[in-house]
Amino acid sequence: MQAKGINRMLIDCHVHSTISSDARSPIAEMCRAAIRKGGGIVCFTEHLDLNPADANFGYYNHEKYAAEIAGARAAFGDKIEILQGIEFSEPHVYPRDFERMVKKNFDFVLGSVHAFRGTWAGAEDILQKYSNEEIYHMHYSETLKMVQFGGFDSLAHMDFPRRFLPEHKEPPDLIDPIFSALIKAGIALELNSAPLNRGKDFSLPSPTLLRRYQDLGGRYVTMGSDAHHADEICMGMDALTAQIESHRFEAVVYRGRKRFPAGIGAGGLEKGGRDAAGIPNDGFSQEL
Ligand SMILES: [Zn+2]
Ligand SMILES: [Zn+2]
Repeated sequence: MQAKGINRMLIDCHVHSTISSDARSPIAEMCRAAIRKGGGIVCFTEHLDLNPADANFGYYNHEKYAAEIAGARAAFGDKIEILQGIEFSEPHVYPRDFERMVKKNFDFVLGSVHAFRGTWAGAEDILQKYSNEEIYHMHYSETLKMVQFGGFDSLAHMDFPRRFLPEHKEPPDLIDPIFSALIKAGIALELNSAPLNRGKDFSLPSPTLLRRYQDLGGRYVTMGSDAHHADEICMGMDALTAQIESHRFEAVVYRGRKRFPAGIGAGGLEKGGRDAAGIPNDGFSQEL
């Protein structure tokens, strides 16, 4: 169960270790860095890519991952809560593999669109072949298909192409159906601080998307740095917390694929379960 005395107000639910091919720090090093920064909950979300064109293809090793998580919990479990999640790319394209994998012992499943038409979204040939507008259209069309397929807990980096495209397109004919399907399915929206942590002046999703999610009745959000190195873990969470509070969203964490209040945002305020210093009460054991 959860250790006492952990600061649960600094939460990072999108983190990669060397279990992912494109990340550089082992799980233990990531945990030590999170503890140094005052982190209270860290959820690893290792890449599971079934697209042969992706660098992570064939790299994921579930047994190794589970063993490293168990080792980290034994070593650091009294200082930080460590959760075992996965970032599954385009689950709707690989439904049988997805259904087989999510039966394993995950706390949290992120759904991500990293590719369309079989190619990584930021690949040079995509950028040369299509206009920005076309790339955003393909990205959001794929995202809509993924959300309609469902089966995951939170939608990761909804406007992902902003990480590598200068312009920003948000076609309303796709955005509204994505949010409607997300809300109907009870899937959370991820707030992702990766661009902020890598020299940009924005996080994902954009202010326009956040407003639209709020207007359509969206409530649940998860928070993640998308760290691929120990230095990046728990970064940018202040900015995400400010967004959560201004939109009256509710930050949530997932344990055993069940949703719990994180004590940040509307849930904390409405339940009156947190004191002025933001110290949560037993809301953490209360499933939403
Ligand atoms: Zn991703
Ligand atoms: Zn990621």
